[in-house]
Amino acid sequence: MTSDFARGTEDGSGSRTPSIVDRLSSARSSRIPFSVEFSPPRDAEAEARLWRAVRAFERLGPAFVSMTYGAGGSTRDRTVRVTGQLAEETTLLPVAHLTAVGHSVDELRAMVGAYADRGITNILALRGDPPGNPLGEWERHPEGLGYAEELVRLVRDLGDFHVGVASFPEGHYRSPDLEHDTRFLVRKLSAGAEYSITQMFFDVEHYLRLRDRVVAFDAEQGAKPIIPEIMPITSLRSARRSLELSGSKLPPALEQRLVRAAGDGPEENRAAVREVGIEVATEMCERLIAEGAPCLHFITLNFARATSEVLSRLGIEMQLPAAQPA
Ligand SMILES: Cc1cc2nc3c(=O)[nH]c(=O)nc-3n(C[C@H](O)[C@H](O)[C@H](O)COP(=O)(O)OP(=O)(O)OC[C@H]3O[C@@H](n4cnc5c(N)ncnc54)[C@H](O)[C@@H]3O)c2cc1C
Repeated sequence: MTSDFARGTEDGSGSRTPSIVDRLSSARSSRIPFSVEFSPPRDAEAEARLWRAVRAFERLGPAFVSMTYGAGGSTRDRTVRVTGQLAEETTLLPVAHLTAVGHSVDELRAMVGAYADRGITNILALRGDPPGNPLGEWERHPEGLGYAEELVRLVRDLGDFHVGVASFPEGHYRSPDLEHDTRFLVRKLSAGAEYSITQMFFDVEHYLRLRDRVVAFDAEQGAKPIIPEIMPITSLRSARRSLELSGSKLPPALEQRLVRAAGDGPEENRAAVREVGIEVATEMCERLIAEGAPCLHFITLNFARATSEVLSRLGIEMQLPAAQPA
């Protein structure tokens, strides 16, 4: 079925919302593009913090910003509203994450329609994890989809949307091996995804090997951008929590450095951990730039300070107001 959901993206002059691939290919050649990931705020205070970060990043001109989707659609209305505001009230180009888990196909269609109504035509199509216990048994909604590949097709069939997918430098935790992982990533790309954004990783070799695997498996799909995701670590405790659900690992030498920096007091030494985290993220970005990564995508946890410090060390300057923690 092809609907005209995405017709609302025309701005009267005939121009459409740019795709991520267009944005990356039109970026200034003198500076690597960067992008940032936000999460839906849970309450008014968190929303105010998000907007401070949004305005701070807006001054530096990210290629795009992405908004994650709460497991199974928790915070759904807020997510759609805030992502819509990013499209309508800022200069930023939003990408809406959408997960299939817990939704019927009709609900997914309605979500895509809600985004299209707000002029959002860039969607990151994901399967999602089981709500409650993300590592638990995956159950398909009786009227829903089984894999992200099917969501790519659904979104593409609904109109003029640009779709990205997730990729996993260390393999998805449900994949029995890297060969299986690569095969199904290539299938998502062949189904019409234009690029992928990786899971976070802390050893650039994992990203480079993923790129090699996809090219070796299918040269055409391997030519599509694989955007590396970087998480500047500012707290060992929260980094460990994020890693638990990601399938990624801290290399032992980095973990030891972070543990030493955290100290053995009752509270971790956040300033020391943060210094290591920012130094390591900067070094990773330098290597990724040297290796020709198409863009640097940062997990921000809705704070601008840590990412902006990495960008500043890379020579991408940003002025921030004083009161921006993390
Ligand atoms: C950049 C990024 C952003 C994310 N954003 C969110 C978010 O906003 N909200 C959220 O809840 N989660 C998010 N996630 C997490 C994601 O939903 C989970 O990692 C989920 O477990 C996998 O999603 P997927 O889209 O990769 O699934 P799929 O591509 O469907 O893959 C799931 C597993 O099934 C295998 N597989 C795929 N197709 C087939 C097939 N046809 N037959 C057999 N096996 C198959 C894959 O190899 C993999 O092991 C994100 C992850 C990344 C990397």
